[in-house]
Amino acid sequence: MFTFDRLALSRRFGLIVPILGWALWWGILTGFLEIANWHIRDSVARFRLLLGPYNLWLAPAVEVVLFLSVGLFWAGLACIFPKDQIVCLAIASYVSLTVVCLALQYPQIHLLAVLLLAGGTGLASLRHFCARLSQWHELVRKTLPILGAGWLIWLLAFPLWWKYEKSTALGRLPPAPPGSPNVVLIVWDTVRAKSLSTYGYSRETSPNLTQLAEEGILFEFAIAPSSWTLPSHASMFTGLPAEAFPTVWGDYLPEEAETLAEVLADHGYTTAGFVANQIFCSRIHGLNQGFIEYSDFDELSTEWLLSISLGRRAVCSPRLQRIFGVQNYWGRKSAEKITQDFLRWLNKEARQPFFVFLNFFDAHQPYFAPPPFAERFGPKSLRKGIEYDLQLRYATVVNPESLTPTQRQGEQDAYDGAIAYLDACLGQLLDQLRRKGFLDRTVIIVTSDHGEHFGEHGLRDHGNSLYRALLHVPLVIRLPGGEHGGSHVCQPVSLVDLAATVCDLAGLPGKMPGKSLRRFWEVPPERHQEDCGRKEAVYAALRPLVPPLVGQIHLDAVIYDRYWFIRSPEGKEELFDWQADPNEENNLANLPGMVPVIEKLRQLLLEKGATGKEGIPGPLPFREPSELVLRVEHDHPENNSPAEPPEENPISP
Ligand SMILES: [Zn+2]
Repeated sequence: MFTFDRLALSRRFGLIVPILGWALWWGILTGFLEIANWHIRDSVARFRLLLGPYNLWLAPAVEVVLFLSVGLFWAGLACIFPKDQIVCLAIASYVSLTVVCLALQYPQIHLLAVLLLAGGTGLASLRHFCARLSQWHELVRKTLPILGAGWLIWLLAFPLWWKYEKSTALGRLPPAPPGSPNVVLIVWDTVRAKSLSTYGYSRETSPNLTQLAEEGILFEFAIAPSSWTLPSHASMFTGLPAEAFPTVWGDYLPEEAETLAEVLADHGYTTAGFVANQIFCSRIHGLNQGFIEYSDFDELSTEWLLSISLGRRAVCSPRLQRIFGVQNYWGRKSAEKITQDFLRWLNKEARQPFFVFLNFFDAHQPYFAPPPFAERFGPKSLRKGIEYDLQLRYATVVNPESLTPTQRQGEQDAYDGAIAYLDACLGQLLDQLRRKGFLDRTVIIVTSDHGEHFGEHGLRDHGNSLYRALLHVPLVIRLPGGEHGGSHVCQPVSLVDLAATVCDLAGLPGKMPGKSLRRFWEVPPERHQEDCGRKEAVYAALRPLVPPLVGQIHLDAVIYDRYWFIRSPEGKEELFDWQADPNEENNLANLPGMVPVIEKLRQLLLEKGATGKEGIPGPLPFREPSELVLRVEHDHPENNSPAEPPEENPISP
């Protein structure tokens, strides 16, 4: 009896070990094949997957777990039926799983076709492995230690490399000029000024921002450089106009464009970014340039599932989303998470002076806030029936034009609730900074990269126009010690000047393109009224993205004097009086009396260079982004120049 048991055990063990060994072998191999496949996909198709370094690091580990889970099933079966055929079936299932994992990287391939391909390959391999099982056993036995060692090196090398990269970057920091203030730049993604109580909105959405504005400088009319995330952030970070940036998906913020974080790090600042908008604000698009710490795709608890194609397809599956009632995309970072990550960094790692960039994404579709903010301005039930297309790290309403008036109200309420949530987190963050004694050594800037349409001009979403709902954004700057607290700047200003302003406040004037906004708050109070009439042109631009994702629109806008002028390359023009007609209901472009105004505004666009030099009206040539970058870099405008005197010949007719 004893002998029989030993034999049976040895027989079973003799099957279980190769079944699990093969699972490990296929898992590691499939993980590396996935990584290779997605890199080939990126470089050939120039369509980057939104995957970060954690995914690269995790892919083989997650595949190993997946294959070992399948292996455990076969091992269990081998305990019941100790036959060689079980080993062959296990190997065939691993082959099929590898085919599934690789084929799922191409969403163009229908799921049924993937399953047929995997099934066919599995069957063919079953016959092959049954015939040559011992040869394959030998191969796996010899190569598994090498593959395993490679994987372990991979597992260790990444964390070591990240640690080394960070410590060398910190070690390279030169001493900062004495007295340099810390800078915290807060971007509330997709928040328009008109939805903030600070800017006169009837709902109390931003009491903490209002409080901050009382201790700081409120810019009543700040204009975003573009109407969607990437060009707006790139412009804020570099001081270059929005049209200087790539419009081809997968391109980076050009290396030659110097960023604010790079300049500050060169002058002794510790730099860190905590980012919730992972689709257009991540290292994939080069916005991490100059940041020693850039926390974008960093949540191991959610990123592990995205590191393999099977997981990515699962979290994007509309069927699964419907079954589980999911209304948000996978792994979204909340305002609380960003705030906590920053405060943790501040407690453990921050060295002064620091420059921190915080991007909050809660007021972006799908507008999402926890209780009680989710229903602060209206019940959730109003949104019933709205269908979201939940893609990888991004979500939009499926048919925005078919929303009922009730659903539209529900969306507006949810957006306002999300803003109130952002504002509450701002309050917590400021409290913490005050309690820890940082506030009076820190410049706090709160702004947004663009707004959102809620039916203005028949539009929803953003990235589809240069109207006021998308370009008029909040801007509050609190100086250390609350200097100039309570000041209001009524003049239109552009966020393109933020980089120059931060450099100026950090004691590094002239280090970035653009003009410091200091010129607006340093005017004596008696000149405020006069300066509100001072005319400086403010520009914005929107360029089509290739391949089409956001919008396929090419527009330029200039805000000058009381006018808001938008022009397309085809010569379509719109003109609004932003002071008398804030809702842009009357297009003045075709009024005969406006001819001199329009000529002046066209001239301003030409001088800016955004619309080419070949004559107006008519199609306007597209400028090469690199050409613009170089032109602006070599043509640094005077930084921090004193306030300009009022222009001699105002254009008002
Ligand atoms: Zn954005």
